[in-house]
Amino acid sequence: MYCLYPYEQGPIRPPSEAHSLLIRVTRNCPWNQCAFCPVYKDHKFQRRSVEEVKGDIVRAAQFFGPNINLIRSAFLQDADTVIIKAQELVEIISFVKAKFPFLERITSYGRGKTLAKKEVADLKQLKEAGLSRIHMGLETGYDPLLAYMRKGATAHEMITAGKRVVESGISLSLYVILGLGGKKWWPEHARETARVINQINPHFIRVRTLRIPEGTPLQQKAQTGEFIPLTDQEVALEERLLIESLTDINSYFASDHILNLLEEIEGQLPGAKPWMLNVIDRFLQLPEEEKLNFIMGRRGGAYRSLDDLDNELLHQRIAGAIDRLRQEGPDRIEEALQLLMERML
Ligand code: SF4
Repeated sequence: MYCLYPYEQGPIRPPSEAHSLLIRVTRNCPWNQCAFCPVYKDHKFQRRSVEEVKGDIVRAAQFFGPNINLIRSAFLQDADTVIIKAQELVEIISFVKAKFPFLERITSYGRGKTLAKKEVADLKQLKEAGLSRIHMGLETGYDPLLAYMRKGATAHEMITAGKRVVESGISLSLYVILGLGGKKWWPEHARETARVINQINPHFIRVRTLRIPEGTPLQQKAQTGEFIPLTDQEVALEERLLIESLTDINSYFASDHILNLLEEIEGQLPGAKPWMLNVIDRFLQLPEEEKLNFIMGRRGGAYRSLDDLDNELLHQRIAGAIDRLRQEGPDRIEEALQLLMERML
């Protein structure tokens, strides 16, 4: 239970829903097995009754009171809200719209496996009730990697799910984890993910970079050396292959996660593709010391884009910090980067 507000909220929402009203329709994740995901590991999935959720919505509306006109978007939590009966979700969406009359967008997470079992007619019902967008974690389109990461859905199911959402008229935000293939599978991860996305043609493709969280099965695989993570440079190569392999789609590509090294890679496909590839090439072609300067500056929050390397003052400060770390010991740069990444979350 999260107690800052007089109604219940779950622990996470997509970055693009940072300013949304959070309404907890179910608790935790019905699957809860993905090897890279720490979020709900110690918690059991629970459905909440429609009446209980409505009670929260009433308390939320009272809480915002005269500021209710500022609430323009709502996100329905937790990990797989669409798992409940369509009729129940319609009732909840209608109620939240009635209590928050200025809402322009209502969104939710939905698992690929769950959505693949939904009829398009059910999804259309949700769309008509007011569900504007579903955020779906594809993570990868490569079947051996989906199985290795225990995602609980095949590429075929992801395609079925994605196509159904698009057909229903609900906007689809598809998430991909950069670096998920590790050293072993990065080319397959990039190519097969693009193959799946090309068939779905989602409204949004959102990338976030893998970080291996404490206590996850993936951390154990990394500790034994079974999973070898990519370096920042290798992730850039992987992202390049992914973008290069996206064809005949008109999705918006977004890098809206704080751990993405090259957050400026963003734009409407297909037009933005050459520009996005060019950004990656500019990074890859930097001399090694410049790459390190950019990585350190980006992870430390000083740089936002490659152009920031032209800021002489910042560049010198970061170069000085790198020199000092080198003098302290051979592993200090890597340790400092890890620490900076932890602090970003
Ligand atoms: S489906 Fe989502 S929330 Fe559930 S375990 Fe996988 S990544 Fe985590």
